Amino acid sequence: MYIVVGAGIVGASVAYFLSRAGAPVTVIDSGRIAGGTSSTTFAWVNSLNKAPRPYHDLNVAGMRAHAALREQFESAPWWHSGGTLEWTHGSPDSYRSKVATRQAWGYRVQWLDHAGVRELEPDIDVGAIGEAPVAYFPDDGWVDPPVYCQALLAAARARGVRLLTHTRVAGLLRRDDSIVGVHTESGEALSADTVINCTGRWAGQPAFSEAQQIPLTPSAGLMLFTPPLAHAVKRVIFSPEVHVRPDGAGRLLICRNDLEVPIEASPTQHLDDAQRLLHAAAKVLPLLGGVQAEALRVGVRALPADHYPAVGPARDVQGFYSVITHSGVTLAPFLGEAVADEILNRVERLELATFRAQRFHA
Ligand SMILES: Cc1cc2nc3c(=O)[nH]c(=O)nc-3n(C[C@H](O)[C@H](O)[C@H](O)COP(=O)(O)OP(=O)(O)OC[C@H]3O[C@@H](n4cnc5c(N)ncnc54)[C@H](O)[C@@H]3O)c2cc1C
Repeated sequence: MYIVVGAGIVGASVAYFLSRAGAPVTVIDSGRIAGGTSSTTFAWVNSLNKAPRPYHDLNVAGMRAHAALREQFESAPWWHSGGTLEWTHGSPDSYRSKVATRQAWGYRVQWLDHAGVRELEPDIDVGAIGEAPVAYFPDDGWVDPPVYCQALLAAARARGVRLLTHTRVAGLLRRDDSIVGVHTESGEALSADTVINCTGRWAGQPAFSEAQQIPLTPSAGLMLFTPPLAHAVKRVIFSPEVHVRPDGAGRLLICRNDLEVPIEASPTQHLDDAQRLLHAAAKVLPLLGGVQAEALRVGVRALPADHYPAVGPARDVQGFYSVITHSGVTLAPFLGEAVADEILNRVERLELATFRAQRFHA
């Protein structure tokens, strides 16, 4: 038996791939499916600013795994293709050279002039771009993580996976130097060959101190949702001041990845930030002039202390495996497949060699 703690996009992916290989699995979440960071995220599938090379390659593996996963379902309502349009107001030469590096690493890109931008995204005011070179990355997309998690967990449950929501894991069961299960807040003990920690931003909680806590760097971002609008935006627009993508039913999702907000603050404390985001977005998309935010959400990143994924077995104890990462929407299907392979087939995947959880406990 394998116990996956956490039913966010990472835990759902691990459970899905374990069950696909025929393994018996119980998934436990203290809340609802995808109720953590997986429902407060920009959810962009890409590898644009993912240096150094091993991290870039891991994210590209994530993009490819998303494509392969879609083939395993009759339909993939969680997936939105369309690519990314990006420009910067820094030096055009250094931007061109950064994009050339991505190209040399196998990332598909096309350069667009203003007519090309208008063709793809007629709502953009190309005056906001000025002379900046615009790159189009056609293989990027975005995901609706709760829809993804529902589909993968439904498929897993059809293969016999047990799902316990609103059930908190309060601690680990330990025998000698092995973790042999978990106990829940209500006192139930559940045995496992391996406990897989997919608790994201909560990975450092005391419940896991018997095995291995992952040190985290707390950080949070603000996401602004517009009301339904008559727009033609079809892809991620990654402009220097603001990032925008559609969010279904005419809504746009607006954020800026270097806009940090306090983790514990309520979204309504960020009305000034929201106005600044809308103002910046309206320069790129004039249809946003006069539009107010319909909703604000604060998302807390599942960010290991050195910002890179922490994946793999614990150092001094058997039976405990962590999968904690930022960029988890991009990486989830790859991590799900690779982690299931490592756990069930007792192999070490080379792609994960740089990102071992044990580095925090050397
Ligand atoms: C503002 C922001 C923007 C982002 N943008 C992107 C992006 O564009 N692209 C991208 O790829 N990634 C992005 N990310 C990162 C991505 O969203 C996360 O890496 C991913 O959602 C993490 O998923 P997870 O399943 O690990 O964690 P979560 O979704 O948080 O799931 C963890 C689950 O564990 C459960 N849990 C915790 N403790 C216990 C316990 N003791 N017992 C039982 N259950 C427990 C929680 O209830 C929760 O459901 C962004 C994140 C933020 C915050």
